[in-house]
Amino acid sequence: MAVSSIPARAGDPTSPRPARTPRRPRGEGQWALGHREPLNPNERIKKDDDPLNVRARIEHIYAHHGFASIDPQDLRGRFRWWGLYTQRKAGIDGGRTAVLEPHELEDEFFMLRVRVDGGQLNLAQLRVVADISREFARDTADITDRQNIQYHWIRVEDMPEIWRRLESVGLQTTEACGDCPRIVLGSPVAGVARDELVDPTPAIDEIVRRYVGDKAYSNLPRKFKTSISWLVDTPYEANDISFLGVDHPDHGPGFDVWVGGGLSTNPMLAQRLGVWVSLDEVPDVWAGVVGIFRDYGYRRLRNRARLKFLVADWGVEKFREVLEKEYLGQALLDGPAPQLPDRPVDHIGVHPQRDGRHWVGAAPVVGRVSGGQLARLADVVEAHGSGRVRLTPYQKLLVLDVPPERTDSLVRELRGIGLEAQPSAWRRGTMACTGIEYCKLAIVETKARGEELVARLEERLRDFDADISIHLNGCPNACARTQVADIGLKGQLVVGPDGQQVEGFQVHLGGGLGMAAGQTAGFGRKLRGLKTTAEELPAYVERLARRYLAGRVAGE
Ligand code: SF4
Repeated sequence: MAVSSIPARAGDPTSPRPARTPRRPRGEGQWALGHREPLNPNERIKKDDDPLNVRARIEHIYAHHGFASIDPQDLRGRFRWWGLYTQRKAGIDGGRTAVLEPHELEDEFFMLRVRVDGGQLNLAQLRVVADISREFARDTADITDRQNIQYHWIRVEDMPEIWRRLESVGLQTTEACGDCPRIVLGSPVAGVARDELVDPTPAIDEIVRRYVGDKAYSNLPRKFKTSISWLVDTPYEANDISFLGVDHPDHGPGFDVWVGGGLSTNPMLAQRLGVWVSLDEVPDVWAGVVGIFRDYGYRRLRNRARLKFLVADWGVEKFREVLEKEYLGQALLDGPAPQLPDRPVDHIGVHPQRDGRHWVGAAPVVGRVSGGQLARLADVVEAHGSGRVRLTPYQKLLVLDVPPERTDSLVRELRGIGLEAQPSAWRRGTMACTGIEYCKLAIVETKARGEELVARLEERLRDFDADISIHLNGCPNACARTQVADIGLKGQLVVGPDGQQVEGFQVHLGGGLGMAAGQTAGFGRKLRGLKTTAEELPAYVERLARRYLAGRVAGE
């Protein structure tokens, strides 16, 4: 073969490229491929000591010696496995969030998340939650959009007593945060809905009983979110794994399995695996998927570690094959796609249960409730013959088992304690994350802005008659699901009228979850120029709403 002796010219596309030594593929830190050495500080913390072990140190050391005695790796790492995050020091503006060191941002109090798997609370539990709020949390007890209760102002000294009280009624904070299996979302009307063919509660209970607190599953690459519901009443497409009810023509009612959903950076919707599993199989399939995540999940970069990245790289066919062959040892049945409504169901208002009693769904504003309110709620619930309350993933709550003749009275009394069963579209559809009041990552205020927004829109557009979702987020992390709201608001600094940087939001328009296949399921459009200052937000949303009303077509 003739070989040219003319040297290659730089920039000549026809020139042969100089041979390169092939680069060794960089590992992603996947355990199953032999990468066991931690590749970042978070992985190091988890390897050095299982984060679940920190509970003993809290009870035996830190609770006695106070905040200053806490090892920084426990404080900012392992505490999360027990639902504890340090909260933001008051008075630090959003412009300093990215420049301060963690210890400069945090104060000596904690945010504490209590997991309420499936959102199910009985009266004894509700009373304990309320009492802890009033005694130890300065009357805070937000309902989060993952059916948790979130306290603030918690002191490490009080944790042993708080755990004692929670656990005495079957509640826990175990793995409420951290790189582990978080709370299992469930239908707020599980077991009572007339159109539910299978109550998934036994599967939720079994997963929690078998796996929460199990060290085989306590070191995952990142958080792992689960949803199990017969109905489309949870944001199933935004979870690492979702089981959604479906009736198989040959095998009857069971669950369709979705994997790899997650918002935040690089948002992705979960994808169907195409399998049908029975209620009994749910816990094993769940454990298989978590096992894949633990063993094959990416551990090099935190922002590429969620299961969605693995699913995106593998595709669902390979994912299913690995699940069946390596984790379950058997093939799963192919399954039909579930029926999806136009919008997710939120259960607000008065609705008949299948046993003839009713549930009443009521809205606080942006999930903000107090311990005092919850204590009064417990009394009102009991006085109306009920013993069960459910939290929803839309920051709302339901009272179950109300005799039909007592519903009007209950609606009135709920209103008297600030819980509205006939809310405006604004109150019903607005959610807000924790924001700058307590969150160390926040850039803007969210809860107070959300309350102000609802109040202003109720005043200016009281009769707005469309379903609308508005999700306020204090930073790009999307805890309140920015990308899947009709109006998604991502907190950031924007340029104000006088040229100064002020709190504001980037706007995402037209997102949605739980949409019927083939319709507009997906993310809102993020338009770079679409921003508003926080001050201008109510007027901005009002303009959008008026434009929508003027332009909507019949049936929209
Ligand atoms: Fe905090 Fe940002 Fe999440 Fe809001 S979205 S709770 S500000 S991390």
